[in-house]
Amino acid sequence: MKQFSVGIIGATGMVGQRFATLLEHHPWFTVTALAASARSAGKTYREAAGPRWAMKTPMPASMEDMVLLDATADIGKIKELVDFVFCAVDMPKDQIRALEEAYAREEIPVISNNSAHRSTPDVPMIVPEINADHAAVIDAQRARLGTKRGFIAVKSNCSLQSYVPALHPLKDVYGLKNVLACTYQAISGAGKTFESFPEILDNVIPFIGGEEEKSEQEPLKMWGRVQGDRIVNATGPSITTQCLRVPVSDGHMAAVFASFEKKPEIEDIKKIWASFSGPAQELELPSAPKQFLHYFEEDNRPQAKLDRELERGMAVSIGRLRPDHQYDIKFVCLSHNTLRGAAGGAVLMAELLAVKGYLA
Ligand code: NAP
Repeated sequence: MKQFSVGIIGATGMVGQRFATLLEHHPWFTVTALAASARSAGKTYREAAGPRWAMKTPMPASMEDMVLLDATADIGKIKELVDFVFCAVDMPKDQIRALEEAYAREEIPVISNNSAHRSTPDVPMIVPEINADHAAVIDAQRARLGTKRGFIAVKSNCSLQSYVPALHPLKDVYGLKNVLACTYQAISGAGKTFESFPEILDNVIPFIGGEEEKSEQEPLKMWGRVQGDRIVNATGPSITTQCLRVPVSDGHMAAVFASFEKKPEIEDIKKIWASFSGPAQELELPSAPKQFLHYFEEDNRPQAKLDRELERGMAVSIGRLRPDHQYDIKFVCLSHNTLRGAAGGAVLMAELLAVKGYLA
């Protein structure tokens, strides 16, 4: 595989730090530019991000002395340094939309963690095991933007990265009709640590702005299909969610209820989960888990602490699958929100797009 020079836009933030640690030893991608707001520009990565470093591993030594660029003012400089960028910034949505389009129009592909472009019909939102074929819409997006290389691809919201993968291999086999999911989401999903979010201690906050809408609508885009110059969303299943913030550092859990056209047998579902794989596994992408969905028989699984790191935080853990008297089945699942759910999922998507030739 060709080697790629990459930039991290929003490098000082929670997701940006994850990108830095994940890319430190990546076999295809080398970080050659770091950028953040004007507040950080001109400082070394150590000076700007060191005091708020939230990762368990130290800041990559190769990046400590890199001088941060201004994500908006320095696009021209960044263009000289990179083949594409990962982007995770905390800005108003209209500003993120404009920023990401500015990079794409400068012929810098953008692999984004931000939500601003998730509902743009020609911007693919790819989980490689689920909808790798959505990459095909990039040609239409390039035509709209008037670019040859530049485009935007987004990663979906972190809340749904456990229950959508778990439901995906059952969807067509049994005819998935209705889904109810309650999510229990870690504080790193809000870019916080226990130090910066003391009000979460001994508390559950039953509101995360915009999260329920994203959790209900984004799966329909992922389960949609490319038609002409856009992705047409699926019309079902009907999904309803409640999203709660819980005092856990990392890992979003979901309690899921689902009903189908054809009632599945519990043991058959476990077999389907155990054998499920997609293009990420078939192409042996460097960040892909060997097995995507892991089912645990123990009554107390999946626990956040043990299973969120499973397969480098890129797999989904599922437990407590059982019949339900209102829905057909219920189960609990867990995925790592800043790994599979954010930076890791974006790196995996970039690997897929690299193999498919979109980053050439
Ligand atoms: P964060 O920790 O608050 O970091 C925000 C980053 O944005 C920092 O690097 C910050 O730079 C930069 N930034 C802020 N204003 C900027 C501006 N005007 N121009 C350029 N850069 C600016 O946030 P986060 O949790 O990493 O989240 C970043 C994005 O990823 C958000 O859109 C979020 O919704 C999304 N996301 C987060 C997660 C998660 O699990 N945390 C999951 C999925 C998606 P300075 O340090 O210079 O201020």
